[in-house]
Amino acid sequence: MAGRLSVDTCQCVLFFIVDDAGDPVYSRGLVCDLHQQCDDPAAIVLKENRLKNAVHAYIAEESPLTSMTVTDPHSGEPIAQMKLGISFGWEFDEARNLRVFVGGLTPEEKTQLASAISERFPQGVQLV
Ligand SMILES: [Zn+2]
Repeated sequence: MAGRLSVDTCQCVLFFIVDDAGDPVYSRGLVCDLHQQCDDPAAIVLKENRLKNAVHAYIAEESPLTSMTVTDPHSGEPIAQMKLGISFGWEFDEARNLRVFVGGLTPEEKTQLASAISERFPQGVQLV
């Protein structure tokens, strides 16, 4: 099987084939201007997209500062969701560093979250 993957972190479209083990193997597809100069755009594009998704998951489902557990009304199972009043946004700066915006925190909570994020994502994510 083969296909294409569009990401929401840039305009690149990666091509992939699924290998014998069932894992997708990505290759250079349609490369956006931001990644034109990269030696291995597929690897960089996936890394950026996965980092953004991992930070979003942490904010939305894991951090006790920004998420909470509720009971799913249909299944009765506990599910994690972002607390009311918390907002999340992100962007990559010109150097492709991930900048994250989290609204609805007190200054103390924001300091705690910044410290938790830098511990969890040592590759560098800036909370602004
Ligand atoms: Zn790109």
